[in-house]
Amino acid sequence: MRYDIAIVGSGPAGLAASINAKIRNKNIIVFGNNNASTKLTKAPSIDNYLGFENLSGVELKDKFMSHIKSMGIEITEKRVNNIYSMGDYFTLISGGDMYEATTVVMATGVEYGKMLKGEEEYLGKGVGYCATCDGALYRNKKVAIIGSNHEGEEDANFLREIASEVYYIPTYKMINKLDDEIKIIEDRPVEIKGDNLANKLVLKNQELEVDGIFIIKDSVSPKYMVPGLEVEGPHIKCDKDMKTSIAGLYVAGDCAGKPYQYLKSAGQGQIAVSSAISYLDKKRIKN
Ligand code: FAD
Repeated sequence: MRYDIAIVGSGPAGLAASINAKIRNKNIIVFGNNNASTKLTKAPSIDNYLGFENLSGVELKDKFMSHIKSMGIEITEKRVNNIYSMGDYFTLISGGDMYEATTVVMATGVEYGKMLKGEEEYLGKGVGYCATCDGALYRNKKVAIIGSNHEGEEDANFLREIASEVYYIPTYKMINKLDDEIKIIEDRPVEIKGDNLANKLVLKNQELEVDGIFIIKDSVSPKYMVPGLEVEGPHIKCDKDMKTSIAGLYVAGDCAGKPYQYLKSAGQGQIAVSSAISYLDKKRIKN
């Protein structure tokens, strides 16, 4: 099945994109999670979202989720690892699954923290962002997972079935769902070291000799997700219609640039979908 629009991200930008696409009767798939976004659920109080005053992030998230559910929109709880432009359409890869869509709206947010020292240098050389994609490379080897959310725990359990030893370094308050054999290390990651390939994770108080390191975060830099996409630092380059350097690919929310705000993100979600629909219409007329 080829979707009209694949929306990647379930924060305010992705959800606003999804309701607008649904209103325009488009065949969509929305990737993310049913908790919307940790950037929503972590906000103690929100006072700048038009129409609501003195609302907690969880309350705003509940309103968003109730809105999309009332419209019959479902979130596919999967992480998209790569998006490839195939010329006429896009292929989206999530672990071992593949999806096709004629247009894509990227609403993946931004990672507020900096990259770890050595992370960029060893990316693809012993450092990865997707355990289900690359886990098989570490059969009977030692791996470390730096997890910034509960998805890291799922990835650690998955790797436990393959690797000889799995270390889990949580950078968040975890509710432990890990297999007993996984070693939890409460320490702060500082640097990744290696020769040709990464082989050491330096933590504040110790060093781990490993064959591979997975870093599981809320969002990864778009340039690693979409080959050839033009970026400016952590942001995807776009015009006022939220059009990116790749035809058919649109962007919305924090990943499109500052300011980082809910209402701006939701507004851009709406613009990105309008632009995607104009693109679909033009394409239909041509064919
Ligand atoms: P996000 O909310 O970051 O959502 C992105 C979503 O995409 C996430 O669910 C993520 O898991 C998902 N995702 C990422 N990559 C993938 C992938 N590859 N595949 C599938 N899913 C993916 N702003 C305000 O206006 N007012 C406030 O009061 C306010 N308070 C804040 C308080 C805190 C503690 C924080 C952290 C932020 C606050 N902000 C506030 C900023 C606001 O949270 C962000 O600007 C907003 O959430 C951005 O929305 P977004 O949809 O672009 O991205």
